[in-house]
Amino acid sequence: MADDDVNPFESLQEQIDDAAAYLDVGDDVLERLKNPERVLETNLSVELDDGDVGVFRAYRSQFNGDRGPYKGGIRYHPGVNRDEVKALSGWMVYKCATVDIPYGGGKGGIQIDPSAYSETELERITRSFATELRPLIGEDRDIPAPDVNTGQREMNWIKDTYETLENTTAPGVVTGKTIESGGSLGRVEATGRSTMLTAREAFDHLDKEMSDASVAVQGYGNAGSIAAQLVHDDLDASVVAVSDSSGAVYNPDGLDPHEVKRFKNETGSVSGYDGATEELTNEELLTLDVDLLIPAALENAIDGDLAADVEADVIVEAANGPLTPEADEVLTDRDVYVLPDILANAGGVTVSYFEWVQNRQRFYWTEEKVNEELERHIVEAFDELVRTFENEDVPNFRTAAYVVAIRRVLDAYEEGGSWP
Ligand code: NAD
Repeated sequence: MADDDVNPFESLQEQIDDAAAYLDVGDDVLERLKNPERVLETNLSVELDDGDVGVFRAYRSQFNGDRGPYKGGIRYHPGVNRDEVKALSGWMVYKCATVDIPYGGGKGGIQIDPSAYSETELERITRSFATELRPLIGEDRDIPAPDVNTGQREMNWIKDTYETLENTTAPGVVTGKTIESGGSLGRVEATGRSTMLTAREAFDHLDKEMSDASVAVQGYGNAGSIAAQLVHDDLDASVVAVSDSSGAVYNPDGLDPHEVKRFKNETGSVSGYDGATEELTNEELLTLDVDLLIPAALENAIDGDLAADVEADVIVEAANGPLTPEADEVLTDRDVYVLPDILANAGGVTVSYFEWVQNRQRFYWTEEKVNEELERHIVEAFDELVRTFENEDVPNFRTAAYVVAIRRVLDAYEEGGSWP
């Protein structure tokens, strides 16, 4: 069951500590690697359609900029809070370092249930947030992107607000935009694509057959639905169960992930999909006896207790932080292979990086080139992680990824020397 008591920021710090045990890093520098450089907390006052003023708490955490501009998404969710944003910004640092793209990490969010507001209200709220963010962001400073409940629409609004206030054109100030506003082909699919590629590489490494492998996916938004479609279409896997916040649907003979998506687009949820033979709870989905489990919803989906009941052989984390540290320990002891978020869902930020490169050069790539470059980054990162896992006696792939990533951040920090 989702464990809301586990603080994701403490989980991040524990993951860094676990990896630091295999690295030569002093306590002072370690402290630096475990805490954000700065966090903006602001209250947005926005006029609502009925004339009332709505007040919305919002954050932006800039965790570490040693390897490049801060980079990371903006989340709209009632559960957004300071520690969640700090954790998500830290995961971005180590994600960008794992796939070796020249960014630091940041993350932002507004504490809001966007479904309760009209489009015009959301536009005013987003523009108000963008105005607050303006001194902090910029093409070479901090580059927001979509996350839960935000997408191309919000990114276009942020870009337009920034450009208007700065009296310039700066499409690279955010990524995840529509194509017409300077977005990249392949960006919408990128997180699901890196999840699929990570699953493919992992099964290959473990000598497991991906064709006909059974797959369960928790969360059927951008990351989960695309991952489901790609493992089905490109790897011939059988997607037997998917869920969203309304519940889960199951068919042991396989669901058509495209049809489920169409159904969700029409009705707002996966529940009630008529190609399913059974409806399950989210907990039942997470403990199905499948070859591959893809958590693609929110943090802390699997805690230590639930981990004891997980029957999947391999877990590929499309979501950020879906396992608590206790769950990680239980699964490591039980020899369940967990491919960590900072590799598996890094496709989103990797293609964001490609989008930013295209924006800076004002020269746009084909989708084929985007996908080829993404595959190269993910496969190289996977190989590096396996080398570390095999040669450095670390307990699992997550610690291997953090060892690789922390080393890269440390190198950049130490090469920069001390200032002032
Ligand atoms: P999204 O808003 O498009 O989808 C989220 C999905 O999760 C929805 O289907 C929602 O119904 C479902 N959900 C929420 N709570 C749930 C619960 N308790 N049980 C089951 N399902 C639940 O968001 P997204 O962009 O797909 O993000 C999902 C995860 O992937 C997040 O952890 C996010 O940080 C991570 N991620 C996203 C991207 C990206 O590019 N979109 C990149 C990297 C990581």
